[in-house]
Amino acid sequence: MRKKIIAGNWKMNMTPSQAVELVNTLKPLVANEEADVVFCVPAIDIVPVTEACKGTNIQVGAENMYFEESGAYTGEVSPDMLTDAGVKYVVLGHSERREYFYETNADVNKKVLKALEHGITPIMCCGETLEQREQGVTMDFIRQQVKVGFQNVTADQAKTTVIAYEPIWAIGTGKTATTEQAEEVCRGIRACIAEIYDDATAAEIRIQYGGSVNAGNAAELFAQPDIDGGLVGGASLKADFGKIVNYK
Ligand code: PEP
Repeated sequence: MRKKIIAGNWKMNMTPSQAVELVNTLKPLVANEEADVVFCVPAIDIVPVTEACKGTNIQVGAENMYFEESGAYTGEVSPDMLTDAGVKYVVLGHSERREYFYETNADVNKKVLKALEHGITPIMCCGETLEQREQGVTMDFIRQQVKVGFQNVTADQAKTTVIAYEPIWAIGTGKTATTEQAEEVCRGIRACIAEIYDDATAAEIRIQYGGSVNAGNAAELFAQPDIDGGLVGGASLKADFGKIVNYK
């Protein structure tokens, strides 16, 4: 039985003091022993958020990480910096990073491997554009993202990794994929993992849905057999996140 994982992606929101205030508001609302609850926050918020989350069920994640150990990479954040600050998860290959910062599948793969090497769980994002969906190439595109993203990742490592299926047309738009669309692609991603590895790995890996998840649609989405929780943007900054975490 896979444990649900519900993660907030704060994106480029919340100054350090606002972040602590938000954590203090959400803390009592997100208690749920049946799910892993993760706040993925801007790099500058990681230290104060980790401190504010001490003694709670909230785990802290980063929104990005570089694939080198250290050195002359101005502005980047290394895996050791994240682990030393208490980070357990990292969002990799979000569509906003792919679009605005030109991250390729190969870059995402390097980051996934580096995160795993350091014991940080990658939340690897994939998802199609509206144009690709309309052209009927959704699964071809996502299979490529997953296959390259998981190159040289062992089956044991893959089992611990999280994949977030996020149709780009549903992110921040208020347009959620229908439950059937979300389940169909998550099932397809699981089949792709079974092809790369085996059925046991596919049965263990957790696959989230992301894209305008809110308090009203979370229960139906998360009840699908291949959807193991959600990656939540806008609604993770509000008290509604407590309702999403306690969706049942
Ligand atoms: C996201 O940031 O990954 C996301 C899914 O955003 P939203 O929930 O706002 O669509």
